[in-house]
Amino acid sequence: MFGDMMDDALTITSIMKFARQVYSNTEIVSITADNPSHRTTFGAVFDRAGQLANVLANLGCAQGDRIATLAWNDYRHFELYYGISCSGYVCHTVNPRLFPEQIVYIANHAEDQWIFVDPAFVPLLEQVQDQLTSVRGYIVLTDQSNMPETTLTNTMCYETLLADQAVDYAWPELDENSASSLCYTSGTTGNPKGVLYSHRSTVLHCMAANTTAALSPSEVILPVVPMFHVNAWGMVYSAAATGCKLVFPGPKMGDGEALAGLINAEKVSFALGVPTVWLALVNYLAESGGSIDSLTRVLVGGAACPLSLMKAMDSYNADLQVVWGMTEMSPLGTCNTLLPWMHDLPEDEKYEYRLKAGRLIYGVDMRIVDEAGSELAWDGEKSGQLQVRGPWVCKAYYKMEVSDAHLPDGWFDTGDVATIDQYGYMAITDRTKDVIKSGGEWISSIDVENAAMGHPDVAEAAVIGVPHPKWTERPLLIVVKKPQANPDKKALLTFLDGKIAKWWIPEDCVFVEEIPHTATGKVSKKDLRDQFREYSY
Ligand code: AMP
Repeated sequence: MFGDMMDDALTITSIMKFARQVYSNTEIVSITADNPSHRTTFGAVFDRAGQLANVLANLGCAQGDRIATLAWNDYRHFELYYGISCSGYVCHTVNPRLFPEQIVYIANHAEDQWIFVDPAFVPLLEQVQDQLTSVRGYIVLTDQSNMPETTLTNTMCYETLLADQAVDYAWPELDENSASSLCYTSGTTGNPKGVLYSHRSTVLHCMAANTTAALSPSEVILPVVPMFHVNAWGMVYSAAATGCKLVFPGPKMGDGEALAGLINAEKVSFALGVPTVWLALVNYLAESGGSIDSLTRVLVGGAACPLSLMKAMDSYNADLQVVWGMTEMSPLGTCNTLLPWMHDLPEDEKYEYRLKAGRLIYGVDMRIVDEAGSELAWDGEKSGQLQVRGPWVCKAYYKMEVSDAHLPDGWFDTGDVATIDQYGYMAITDRTKDVIKSGGEWISSIDVENAAMGHPDVAEAAVIGVPHPKWTERPLLIVVKKPQANPDKKALLTFLDGKIAKWWIPEDCVFVEEIPHTATGKVSKKDLRDQFREYSY
């Protein structure tokens, strides 16, 4: 027997229509390349999303086409999110911090048709345009007076294109399971892998994020998580669904002074970002003697949160709440809030709980298992591989078999190792995936190792992540020299220049007699991490 309720499709279009009707006057403030303080409203950007939809139709886009963005967080990127997805195309957000070969791989794999690009990233695309096999043209996100000179072929100006178009657009009735957006993660081994979100998964995640973050229209949100990395943790949708004023930092993501300026000028009450961003903010505040009085809540995730950072934010009365998730999870999985009785615990014990990744949010299921796949108890002691499932967890990577992402019983292995205590607080203790996260972005240890192995004096090379005060984690190169060879540390690191992204190059290299291996002959990163546990940049 079925229920008698309406089954309206859960689409991003419904969020747009709702916000346009109910929160039309809610503000969106952005720093952009061409305006340090741009102000608009939900009503105005959704009108422009309609103009954009008309532009896309005129460009000959077909349903399901992947339309790429290479842009910072600002109102134009917000328009692209809605204008593309709600017209039935797929908004493919490309991470400009990836190195050019990865961007080529991603754009070709996704078969991107058009790329909407911030002027700042035009030179990046100029370098690789000859290798892009599906792209038909480029739209630069600025007005005519700020159009850069470029060698990109078939380039158009965003504002000029929009200006000619009607605001009205007959938004299609989309199937809620149709694809809405695409984000590649490089947090796995091998080539970056695409996570293709649906309208349904996005709306369900949005509703969960709204309650998890307890959002209401009195809130002012500053997403310092990039819109090119998992939809700014869903805030692009949540802000519209809850009517929160949005403040976008544009290219000023890691700039403590600019962030403090935005927080104070716009009375930001709620912000989200990786630890590196909040370190930049508290360092600036300590140096300048500034304050951030309006900011009461901050979500921190993407990497482990240092105790010193949490204490520093406490001293500014900003409650830092740890969240955990991943691109494959849209991204939210857990969030840390204390239970009522925990508030009475001694300070140290309270911090112990607060630093954990937190408890599940409704909609996601998780378990920890040992190497044989047996489920482990939630006792806070046993650590095991962390696996998840739920309606906003990806079922397969884009154009790959389901089995490439999933275990035979349908769970997704996160590549994280964790404990879960009796109250359900999960804490990340290690990683099985062989990647390093620095300042919130991934470094492939394998690529760095391969580059180092190309040096004639290197017999074997391994790279692990070690703690770093600013970037949370940085790569450390560990090398076994060839017999009789005596390479110089600095020369070895300089050798990597040009072979991998500049920010991937380790700051240090240590020479060892031997690198530990597993029974199957692979480098044992776990043993190496144990061996260098005391090492710190
Ligand atoms: P991404 O897909 O790039 O968002 O990265 C997801 C990965 O970041 C997770 O699988 C973890 O390895 C790491 N991560 C995310 N949140 C946390 C956290 N709160 N603490 C430690 N690691 C985290």
